[in-house]
Amino acid sequence: MATKAKAKPETKEFQAEVKKLLDIVIHSLYTERDIFLRELISNGSDALEKFRHQNLLEKEEDIFDSHLPLEITIDVNEKEHILTITDTGIGMTHDDLIHNLGTIAHSGSKTFLTELSEAAQKDVNLIGQFGVGFYSAFMVAKRVLVQSRSFIKETEGHEWSSDGSGSFTVSPAPGIRRGTKLILELKDDAKEYANKDAIKRIIKQYSSFVPFPIKVDNETVNTVQALWTRNKNEIKEEEYNEFYKYVGNAFDEPTFKLHFAADAPLAIKALLFVPKENFEQSGFGRIEPGVNLYCQRILIEQHSDNILPEWLRFVKGVIDSEDLPLNISRQALQDSALVMKINKVITKRFLKFLEEEAKTNPDAYVNFWKTFGVFLKEGATSDYMHREGIAKLIRFESSKTEAGKLTSFAEYVARMKDGQQDIYYINGPSREAIEAGPYVETFTKNDFEVIYNMEPIDDFVMNHIGEFDSKKLVSADRADIDLPAEPEDTEEKKDEGKKVKLDKDATENLVKWIKEVLGTKVKEVLVSKRLVDSPAIIVNPDGFMTSSMERILRATNQDMQNFGNKNLEINTGHSLIKNLAALKEKDEPFAKSIVEQIFDNALIQAGLMVEPRQMVDRTYKILERAVTSED
Ligand code: ADP
Repeated sequence: MATKAKAKPETKEFQAEVKKLLDIVIHSLYTERDIFLRELISNGSDALEKFRHQNLLEKEEDIFDSHLPLEITIDVNEKEHILTITDTGIGMTHDDLIHNLGTIAHSGSKTFLTELSEAAQKDVNLIGQFGVGFYSAFMVAKRVLVQSRSFIKETEGHEWSSDGSGSFTVSPAPGIRRGTKLILELKDDAKEYANKDAIKRIIKQYSSFVPFPIKVDNETVNTVQALWTRNKNEIKEEEYNEFYKYVGNAFDEPTFKLHFAADAPLAIKALLFVPKENFEQSGFGRIEPGVNLYCQRILIEQHSDNILPEWLRFVKGVIDSEDLPLNISRQALQDSALVMKINKVITKRFLKFLEEEAKTNPDAYVNFWKTFGVFLKEGATSDYMHREGIAKLIRFESSKTEAGKLTSFAEYVARMKDGQQDIYYINGPSREAIEAGPYVETFTKNDFEVIYNMEPIDDFVMNHIGEFDSKKLVSADRADIDLPAEPEDTEEKKDEGKKVKLDKDATENLVKWIKEVLGTKVKEVLVSKRLVDSPAIIVNPDGFMTSSMERILRATNQDMQNFGNKNLEINTGHSLIKNLAALKEKDEPFAKSIVEQIFDNALIQAGLMVEPRQMVDRTYKILERAVTSED
């Protein structure tokens, strides 16, 4: 650092995104201003946690002011309306001050800002989810001074100062202690924060679980404790809820809570919460992991990416393991076999916990499933290791549930009929559409249950899960569906008698001709064994891909244009098909149009796209014929 330049302050402009953020903070956020204190205390606490960890990594003589107690002190000057928040944490260097308090670290700062300003308009509580952090000081202060001294020995202290209106200054501040002091010159309408009782009240409300003493007037205001290390029986529900709010930066109450301790195979203590709301679903972008990793009450990694699988990112809480080396670095966490082991143990335990909740608390579980099921589905498609555990948690509608009611694989299996080998599912846009379509006909007739999948991702989920309780999951649009024949043969015969089918020769001719008409659009044309009321159906001869999966892949990959891998099955007992054979002899061009239309209709029922213009032209021609033949 140039010694000469130290004398006069440097003036710097805030990054454009920060200016916008400050504008929102200063002008839009009038209510719930108390949260500014929570944000600043939480920054101080983070800095203390970082220091505590750093202290373990470095030699004591390399650390500046290593003797200072780790704490946060708050002073008020009621006369001059000044609030001071001091921590003895890791501190900031000259460059840290410029970088950390002049820019926004978020990678997608633009989207972040748009989302933030929308949230600010909707509900100011949502702001907490965004961690406006340090800049929230400007909700209450007309000027903010930050004096900071890093733990790194060979650096010097500096003072940062700004009124939040576009620029800030940084100047040397020699002789200060390690850590950070925020001096807030309160706005005229925020004088109430220069009052000890108000400050104490806010600390109790929002920051009671900060793991360092927060002192006002030399008195510790918060109850410093690691809740997860205490005995379950001694903890009150409110304490859990408060802790959830603290650790999850949340305002709601948790839906589920799992508090457990294990000694073998690993020494683990975990306190995990499922929130009420899914902010990712509400359009606020991807949520960050919400679990912090501790070792013997020392924070090792906040919002850890490593300690739980990505698809459990909605879970909030704390995991503490004594088995971790205290001085483990971030880098080492990533490839630590031990961390992977903890991850596996806790994930299994958490899935088992959800399974128990589903049994003992079915209504709450269904609500959980509706809100967070999407994450479990993500897990089912991406995490092979836990797919069996996840399968037990999956819920869906089926032909045996009432509309809107959900069931599970286990319940399905319990209802399976004698002789039924597989579990069947079908995808469609809605229950009504599925039930009106051709795919469930044979199942309904044989009284076999079919799972109704209504989300596009569901077929991928089924595909990845593959089987449940040794029963294969089979899509009902597969070509080789052949349900066991009805036990009463006579019934079948009677049925057949009623519906006279085309004879063998006529059928062979017709099938051959339809294949000629459709050409490469289909792989094969076959006589259906499964159809009851529909004239035709599209089925998938390659057991892997369902029509629903194909629809998604097609949407993301324009090149996939060929339908050639599908079979068209026709119902030779249906009058449309029977009369088609006759029409072909009288008026072949028109009969061809009918075939094309039957094919398009079957594609639509399979949820696949057809070329709409051609189809509309063709239907008009067919309708015209229908109208003219009336007279
Ligand atoms: P966030 O805390 O979400 O990262 P902030 O805007 O609150 O965002 O803070 C930006 C950065 O400034 C922090 O990440 C941290 O590096 C630094 N910082 C803020 N307050 C302190 C503090 N009291 N001590 C040390 N560093 C701090």
